[in-house]
Amino acid sequence: MPVKHETSTRFMDEIRIISPWAYFFVVLGFLAAIAAVVHANLSENPPFPLVAMVPMAIFGGTVVGCYFLLIGYVNGDAGRRGMSRLGWTLLAICVPNALGIVLYFVLRKPRIATCPQCENAVQTGFNFCPRCNYKLSPSCPQCQRLVEVNDVYCPYCGTSLRNRAGAANGLPTELPG
Ligand SMILES: [Zn+2]
Ligand SMILES: [Zn+2]
Repeated sequence: MPVKHETSTRFMDEIRIISPWAYFFVVLGFLAAIAAVVHANLSENPPFPLVAMVPMAIFGGTVVGCYFLLIGYVNGDAGRRGMSRLGWTLLAICVPNALGIVLYFVLRKPRIATCPQCENAVQTGFNFCPRCNYKLSPSCPQCQRLVEVNDVYCPYCGTSLRNRAGAANGLPTELPG
């Protein structure tokens, strides 16, 4: 269960970085699709019957919406990975068939975090800050092995991690690679 919970938290984190304007374009896309259906039906010769056009509009709106959400994700995600937000967003928009988005997911750098002590950019998976030697991942004070932030006892030697100062400090180790 904790694994499942962590996954959904991660998923929500990913959703949260989608830029707000992406949602605006999603709504705009749906409105445009509805407007197109209404407009086509008011014309003299509708190209398709209404029953066929409504699902087409919903499908089209969903595809376009997903496209905008992905662009919004690229825009937010590039920033936290130290990549050019503007450059990758433009690439995601301009390269046809969503290839720019695919290219982004292939080429994106590992996520970076900031050292709480010296504010140097550190990559995911670093245990110590390369600049100031700050301990980034929590570790057991007894056996020095890495532990999870939420661990109450060290899974290797059984030492209680709650009673000791500094045992649970450092960045959460849950940043995906
Ligand atoms: Zn540091
Ligand atoms: Zn231990």
